[in-house]
Amino acid sequence: MSNSLQLTNIGELVTANSAGVERYQNSSLCIEDGKISSISDRNGDRVIDCGGKMVTAGFVDSHTHPVFYNKRDEEYRMRLAGATYEEIAEKGGGIISSVEGVRNASKEALVEKVMQRMDRFIAVGTTTIEAKSGYGLNTDSELKSLSVIDEVNQNHPIDMVPTFMGAHAFPKEFSNDHDAYIDLICNEMIPAVTDQGVAIFNDVFCEDKYFTVDQSRRILETGREHGLKPRLHADEFVDSGAAVLAGEINAFSADHLMAVSEIGIRSIVDNDVVATLLPGTTFFLGKSTYAPARKLIDNKVTVALATDFNPGSSHIQSMPFIMTLACMHMEMTVEEAFQSVTYNGAKALGMENEIGSIEVGKKADLILWDLDSLLDIPYYVSDHPIKLVIKNGTIVFQA
Ligand SMILES: [Zn+2]
Repeated sequence: MSNSLQLTNIGELVTANSAGVERYQNSSLCIEDGKISSISDRNGDRVIDCGGKMVTAGFVDSHTHPVFYNKRDEEYRMRLAGATYEEIAEKGGGIISSVEGVRNASKEALVEKVMQRMDRFIAVGTTTIEAKSGYGLNTDSELKSLSVIDEVNQNHPIDMVPTFMGAHAFPKEFSNDHDAYIDLICNEMIPAVTDQGVAIFNDVFCEDKYFTVDQSRRILETGREHGLKPRLHADEFVDSGAAVLAGEINAFSADHLMAVSEIGIRSIVDNDVVATLLPGTTFFLGKSTYAPARKLIDNKVTVALATDFNPGSSHIQSMPFIMTLACMHMEMTVEEAFQSVTYNGAKALGMENEIGSIEVGKKADLILWDLDSLLDIPYYVSDHPIKLVIKNGTIVFQA
């Protein structure tokens, strides 16, 4: 049975693809069975008059850590008093401080928390997110985290793309034997994650004091043998050679890259790895070392932007605010930032043929704004004038 919806009187329809941003004036859009069926006038069962306002694709947030129990506002207080991320981690804060909460929480309690977080993502226009485990750091709690993502994904309108991230940090019980934890990930966790059948990607925090290049390579290659696609946290604090590794293993995405080297840039360009930049983390950590977006774009790297939403280093869910940071601190144009939060985010997940732009045959994931132009998205900074969010052709948020 056909189920159609028509959006008429769209003042400006804005969409991005690999070539950049395209704009259509005074257009309309037809949706059938959850997908875009035409960008022109055609009758639908139901008609929405957009009142001359702007319509864009929904945001694709390609890097988030939403499965945690406790907030970490105490660390925020420490940072405001001058402590660095590294100092907080040395005092028992950081990633490890979220582990106890996830291990002790029931699946139901975590589902409730994550459902609420997804409501907020939808309300600020995000229609697809990548979601990582990585606060369990033992087999049971990593599987529990992934099953939380699976359950929320089935019961919430947002689309979640699950990533296994057992290699997020070394849990306390392995602090003196890192190699044994790598063995656990490769010999037990990855096969169990594959048996569970939820995760699509495998991610590693390849960084000084976290996972070395050799350890990361082993984990990502083992994952690939089990059908998990590689992506990695790379060169966030220092150049550890992670971007080079990302190219060598053909990762879908290398993320952060604040300290990426020239040779790292060459490696990701030559192997078509998306660079996912996370300016919210730089901002939230009170740093000024934003990733070199301009240099990456000028070197023909595909740049995606994401929130890195997590309780410690980026308590940010808004992609419009990420666009503001990219435009103000990373020398990105508004059009580049928009392409990076939609089409390029989809590419970072290998989903650019399904989502990320307004094209016939793609999912009808759309935002109707109470705005007239793209420039107004970053310009409004803390205010997100959204009238409607449509996911798979259905209205899922209304102001
Ligand atoms: Zn992250």
